[in-house]
Amino acid sequence: MSTIVEPQSQRLVRAGLQEIFSSIQGEGIWVGKRQIFVRFNACHLKCAYCDTPQRVASAYCEIEQSCGSSEKTLLENPVSVESVLNWIWHFVRQTRHHSISFTGGEPLLYTDFLKSLLPEVVSLLPVYLETSGTQPDKLAEIIDWVNIIAMDIKLPSATGEAMQLENHRQFYQASSDKELFVKLVFSEQTPLSELEAVSEIVTHQRTPIILQPMTSLTTGENTVSAAKIFEVEEFLSARFADVRVIPQTHKMLALL
Ligand code: SF4
Repeated sequence: MSTIVEPQSQRLVRAGLQEIFSSIQGEGIWVGKRQIFVRFNACHLKCAYCDTPQRVASAYCEIEQSCGSSEKTLLENPVSVESVLNWIWHFVRQTRHHSISFTGGEPLLYTDFLKSLLPEVVSLLPVYLETSGTQPDKLAEIIDWVNIIAMDIKLPSATGEAMQLENHRQFYQASSDKELFVKLVFSEQTPLSELEAVSEIVTHQRTPIILQPMTSLTTGENTVSAAKIFEVEEFLSARFADVRVIPQTHKMLALL
């Protein structure tokens, strides 16, 4: 594994990244599509089910040297816009991708960085933003360069944190002219009252609602009973036109 330290001249706009790689999207309505993933360090939330230790900052960004290989290059954090753009080009040249996923952690913690990077990226491939859906003011700074938004609504029964109803509501309204879907991670304990709150946030009946049963942090296996999955699905299908139950498929395939 090689390590790259960037020259000082490229140290203007930078961000802490966990990894850059090419893989298959494992969640949401674009499940199965090939994407380039740019995964940011750090998150302002502490969801109990979080499976990404990268919500905490790391010293190096891991970069897959070629699509599908296990060989990694280490890039010292924080990483420059120029460097990320070069690595995106590196993957774009190798194989066809549907879009570029900006994920985390929480990418919206890095809007200065994204404001420099996204205008360059959006002409290469559609920009796909995976976000907790809790920072509408941050979204407004970059929304002109975003094509697809995968917006979480965080349910207290799954996250262990309080519901951010007003933030989610404003975020949804700010996203409504984009290609948008909503993802709900739910647990065996999720009460119907929390799902009722989703109707207060999602005002368009045709917005796709993706139900993602919570998985075990230790085994990666589903923790929600069939009876609960059907209860949640039936409750939301009575209110929304496009409700789908989709587990994290990349874990089944042992992909990044
Ligand atoms: S928002 Fe995502 S990255 Fe942040 S703690 Fe929750 S699951 Fe983890």
